[in-house]
Amino acid sequence: MDRLPCVLLSTTTDLRGLFGTALAGISDHVEILDHPAPNPERVRLALGWRPPADALPQYPNLAALCSIAAGVDNLLACPGRPRDLPVVRVVDPDQARAMSGFVLWHVIGHQRRFAAYAANQRDRVWRRLYPRDASAVPVGILGYGQIGRRVAGDLAALGFPVRAWSRTPQGSGPGIAHRHGPDGLSAMLAGSEVLVNLLPLTAETRGLIDAALLSCLRPGGYLIQVGRGEHLVEADLLAALESGHLAGAALDVFAAEPLPAAHPFWDHPAIRVTPHEACEASPQAVARTLLAAAEAVRAGRVPPDAVDAARGY
Ligand code: NDP
Repeated sequence: MDRLPCVLLSTTTDLRGLFGTALAGISDHVEILDHPAPNPERVRLALGWRPPADALPQYPNLAALCSIAAGVDNLLACPGRPRDLPVVRVVDPDQARAMSGFVLWHVIGHQRRFAAYAANQRDRVWRRLYPRDASAVPVGILGYGQIGRRVAGDLAALGFPVRAWSRTPQGSGPGIAHRHGPDGLSAMLAGSEVLVNLLPLTAETRGLIDAALLSCLRPGGYLIQVGRGEHLVEADLLAALESGHLAGAALDVFAAEPLPAAHPFWDHPAIRVTPHEACEASPQAVARTLLAAAEAVRAGRVPPDAVDAARGY
């Protein structure tokens, strides 16, 4: 069987270095090529993350553009993307589990007042702070997809009251109250103390986390921002921290990445910064996704986990 040629397209990431070993495991089915690939009209697949702006039109016979991640916003925004080219995301249960660990760490850190203990340790102060029980700390989750569901379930299992929000009706689970659509958003936010953002970046969700939204959270609230940087109006977060309405924020994603050295988030005492590393799809999951896309292309089918490009996720 001929191998399906796949070109690697990234301006920011060494895809061969990160995924080469896992991709070698599917080399009987897929031929991995660096960009610019020879005979570009042969190339049927692309694996990409922030592709070069002029790359896609160079491969006129592409049948699928695969992401290395759960999010596809940078691929959908790529110049020259044919409107009917399937864009494929990675669905990886291990990644959802890793994201859950990251979010739980921050939620529990807020509930158990880890920052206050760290400050007391610096000052050699022995003081019990009597943190509240999890049941007293409601957590709202923006986005109830493959990752949001895992996070919601794990928080509920630890006793946090969870409210989850999505675009369409999904049904509530044990310990999880679900709302949907614009009308359900304020009901979900009201009384939430911690807010976790697990939305995809789309035209509808860009800039959603602004002053009006943050004002709906309980005083002393906490933001865990792991969706995309462009969801957040950064000045509104700083104002909410300044006023004391929010107690703190854990930020993993930013409008500008890497976060510029002069950005006020870096040395804000109530903000924790991580470099867009809450979780990653495993190389094996990326290779599985590419192989499934190759099989679908051969069979003339739309690849599994192709997103709805018009919807944006
Ligand atoms: P999914 O596509 O599985 O889920 C997306 C969820 O968002 C769905 O519940 C969807 O609603 C909801 N949603 C989308 N648009 C709207 C809207 N306009 N209003 C309300 N709800 C909306 O995505 P994943 O769970 O796989 O990933 C979510 C995001 O997490 C990724 O797109 C990425 O941005 C981010 N991420 C960040 C990582 C990091 O390291 N920081 C790592 C991995 C992901 P519905 O169910 O009704 O369709």
